Amino acid sequence: MPKHIQDLDVKGKRVFVRADYNVPLDSESKVTDDFRIQASLPTIEYLLKQGAAVILASHLGRPKGAVIPEMSLAPVAGCLAELVQAEVKFAPDCIGQEIEKLAADLQPGQILLLENLRFHAEETNNDSEFSKQLAALADVFVNDAFGTAHRAHASNVGITEHFQEKAAGFLLMKEIEFLVQAIESPQRPFTVVMGGSKVSGKIDLLKRLAEVADNILIGGGMAFTFLSAPPLNHNVGASLVEENRLQFASDVIDLCLSKGVNLVLPSDCIAGREISEDAKAQELPIRALEDDLMGLDIGRRTVKSFEEIIESSKTVLWNGPMGVFEVTPFQQGTQAIAQKLCEITKTGATTIVGGGDSAAALKKFGLAGCVTHTSTGGGASLELLSGIDLPAFEALKGAK
Ligand code: AMP
Repeated sequence: MPKHIQDLDVKGKRVFVRADYNVPLDSESKVTDDFRIQASLPTIEYLLKQGAAVILASHLGRPKGAVIPEMSLAPVAGCLAELVQAEVKFAPDCIGQEIEKLAADLQPGQILLLENLRFHAEETNNDSEFSKQLAALADVFVNDAFGTAHRAHASNVGITEHFQEKAAGFLLMKEIEFLVQAIESPQRPFTVVMGGSKVSGKIDLLKRLAEVADNILIGGGMAFTFLSAPPLNHNVGASLVEENRLQFASDVIDLCLSKGVNLVLPSDCIAGREISEDAKAQELPIRALEDDLMGLDIGRRTVKSFEEIIESSKTVLWNGPMGVFEVTPFQQGTQAIAQKLCEITKTGATTIVGGGDSAAALKKFGLAGCVTHTSTGGGASLELLSGIDLPAFEALKGAK
């Protein structure tokens, strides 16, 4: 394991914190969801209390090396200042002489937020000179950005080579502990609820889950690839089917059978001919899907069977919505599962939401914060749960 932030002596030092402030902004550049900013507070508050000067760096969006004013981190500085109730100085860039002076002048107890790292293409190229310039701003390095931990970039991998003292922050550690424990030593029964549009991108994860879960419940668009695959061979109308993943779906079905994993697929769905707020939705058994109908949510019978299994579980991992929850006619399945997760959390079960769309769904239904852990990183959580090492976490372990 790398060092934990609490293992470092940071008093009087300048600490470079790689945070994840890749947050949504509206057309007036207001932060519309401060979940990731809130999640960074334990590390910042700890460092301030220890008498460190805190230099925060992050990316926002994909400016691809260009300076795009709409992707400036300036609005984050204001939002963060309100949350920590302290001044947050804002640097107009993240490297260069002017920034080095701002960093050098920073006093213990003060916070400086750097401008978007990805305004420099060198960030995503893990450029060694750029890493060195970032590292020149501080004495100690802390990585607390789980959302980008699956990427090897200058500010989370290259930079570590320039610091003797480096560690994982509270958020990064918490994310890793929750997700690794869920998959390696869960309290059983351990149920996985999978959804979202596609099987692709979740192949390694599904294979691994089939080795460790007690129940795997599959909803969302991806369920239709499973339902179409041998030995089930359902006709699923115009629903989303990935033809090139049918063999993989069959293999997962076989693997679950051989491992005694209870794999549950939808028996009914809410179908429509279009995805829109005023789409005409009809509830049907899967076998009744006509050729021009798409299954766009799980039906009530499926919801009930999923709820019963979730109710008797001690650990539930949820990744991906059960339907097109973004529009009202197809949101009920996702909402019902989200509510059930919150219910069992209150009675002592551990519930983990893998970030991305599932986290967005929780927020939409006013249920954010009612599960045990919501990951701040969709892609990173998928890779970690799939058993893939996260380069940014590994880099923290290396000696200078
Ligand atoms: P993913 O990025 O693969 O996790 O997929 C998330 C997206 O899947 C969401 O935007 C949902 O609208 C979409 N989705 C969920 N269920 C379905 C479905 N039955 N058909 C098409 N798209 C779906």
